[in-house]
Amino acid sequence: MKRLHSGMDAWRYIVRSNQDSHSVETYLPLILSAAGAIGVLPFAVKRLMQQEWAAATIDIIIVTGFIALGTYVYRTRRVRAASIAIAFICVAGVISTVHVNGPVQIYWIFPALMAVFYLIQPQEAVFAAVVTIAALFPAVLPVSNSHETGTIFVTILVTSAFAFAFSMVTSRQREQLLVLATKDPLTGAGNRRALDAKLSDVVNAHLRSGTDASLVLIDLDHFKKVNDVHGHAVGDQILKRVSKIIDLRIRVTDSLYRIGGEEFVVVLDGADLSRAAHLAEQLRTLVYANELVPDHAVTISLGVAELKKGENGNDWLHRADEALYRAKNAGRNSTSISD
Ligand code: GH3
Ligand code: MG
Ligand code: MG
Repeated sequence: MKRLHSGMDAWRYIVRSNQDSHSVETYLPLILSAAGAIGVLPFAVKRLMQQEWAAATIDIIIVTGFIALGTYVYRTRRVRAASIAIAFICVAGVISTVHVNGPVQIYWIFPALMAVFYLIQPQEAVFAAVVTIAALFPAVLPVSNSHETGTIFVTILVTSAFAFAFSMVTSRQREQLLVLATKDPLTGAGNRRALDAKLSDVVNAHLRSGTDASLVLIDLDHFKKVNDVHGHAVGDQILKRVSKIIDLRIRVTDSLYRIGGEEFVVVLDGADLSRAAHLAEQLRTLVYANELVPDHAVTISLGVAELKKGENGNDWLHRADEALYRAKNAGRNSTSISD
């Protein structure tokens, strides 16, 4: 399972093929940085007019930081680093304003912690909350009685607990959404959408740094007949078994996708044609050797293609498909390599 740094990561992965407009992943850091800048700006102006230089400096740094990070997210749509930086400004801003301007500033901790819990991973946010509370304790303790202190810290803890629960729930839901959007439900392999995203990543990496990459396209032979003879349910089990056999053999840098009914693709990131051809032959003999149904050899045909300069994902897949077609014509249970 792909590791998600925040709930927004799932959105980034799912919507990334659709980047014509500003995608939903950028909304939260944009809104939080805009709200932060607009919220603190009047105080910065007031401090400047009253010539409270230390306080004014803190407020100006906070406002400038929010504007800079908001602009960065708006221009680049890169969210992860900016989210950490915005969370850092929230925490550092609250701590410094309470220490410099007095304990009445403690109210800022509520929006700051909410922002932190929405922007970064729940566990990271808990750490940030603990650091903030520990840093504020010495500033608040001497000037409030025990009842006030208790109220302040209990309300902070309750707010943090709500925000933590909410961020856990949303991040779980988005992980599930990511699975639904990118996995084939029968075999657990990646689906067509995930393959398109992977091909575009690999082609871009090849353009940037010339890294090798190869494809193995796999199609079960005479699968219609297997279904006709043994039934669709057995056919489904065979698809799961074949997917498992492939998955167990490929490396961590290889990834498996199911496209169409009985067709699979392995993308070999960083592999040249000869390694891909070697893997293809291994997979072919493995499937053949595994008696998937009694008294009937289930076989696969494979087409192999290495990414060429100037090709896009579709051209590359098309060449692997042509090779597969040749393997079928050669009598099936065979591998063909695109030159
Ligand atoms: P070839 O060797 O030329 O590939 O022959 P084939 O019969 O495998 O190819 P064809 O494209 O004619 O038929 C593919 C069959 O795969 C049709 C359908 O019954 C079966 N199939 C597709 N998706 C599924 C699925 O999800 N489950 C099952 N059980 N069968 C499926
Ligand atoms: Mg087939
Ligand atoms: Mg087919």
